[in-house]
Formats: sequence, structure tokens, C-alpha cells
Amino acid sequence: MERQTRQREAICAAIESCDRPLSPAELCEAARRRLPSLGVATVYRAIRELVASGWLRIVEIPGAAARYERAGKPHHHHFLCRICNALWEVSGCLRGVDALAPAGFVTEGHDITLYGLCHDCRGAGPK
Ligand SMILES: [Zn+2]
Ligand SMILES: [Zn+2]
Repeated sequence: MERQTRQREAICAAIESCDRPLSPAELCEAARRRLPSLGVATVYRAIRELVASGWLRIVEIPGAAARYERAGKPHHHHFLCRICNALWEVSGCLRGVDALAPAGFVTEGHDITLYGLCHDCRGAGPK
């Protein structure tokens, strides 16, 4: 029980200390910095349970592996780097984007993903 608690704490702390959504592999790596003995199966199980409990949210990007972020964040979008495949958080939104729906339609939500090169992959001098 106590071991399980420490594993869970390491996983949750890794998520909370990262400012972008993580893939299971990235989460595993980040959590292992806190608890090196952590196994992949444990991380996957924790992800499933944290999503079921509503603490963690799945970020689905078409054509990319699912990432996970803390649930309950303010409305935001994401930036996918096409070189390193990291997904970054983009705060804010475009005013009026929901009004792009055809006349007579009711918009219930939207997803916006920006694509390109992150600051590391851009490799262009100062950030
Ligand atoms: Zn990148
Ligand atoms: Zn938006």
C-alpha cells in the first residue's frame, strides 16, 4: 500500500511539474527521475485510474499518440512540434472561432492544434 502511494505520488508530481501534456513514455521518464524503480505497467495503470477519477485528461491529436494533462485547466490549445513530436500548451483562444460554423448549426466545442517547430528544434539562436 505504501509503495503504491509513493508510486502514485511520483507520477502525479511529474505531471504537475510539467507545463505540457505528456505521452505515457514521457511520463514514465519524468516519474522515474523521482522514483527510479517505477515500471511501465505501473505508469499505464496509474494513467487509466487517474483518467477514470477525473484527475487526468486525455489530449487526443489526430495522427499522434495520446498525451495526458491535468484535468480542469482553463480553456487552451496545443502546439505539436513536427520534429521532436513534443506537444506544448498554448494559452488563450481566438475570439469568434465558434461562429465559423454554418448558419443554423450549434457549436458545442472546438479543438485547435498548431503545428511547426518548437524553440529547441528551430535551432535558431536565442529563444
Ligand atoms: Zn521540437
Ligand atoms: Zn479555443
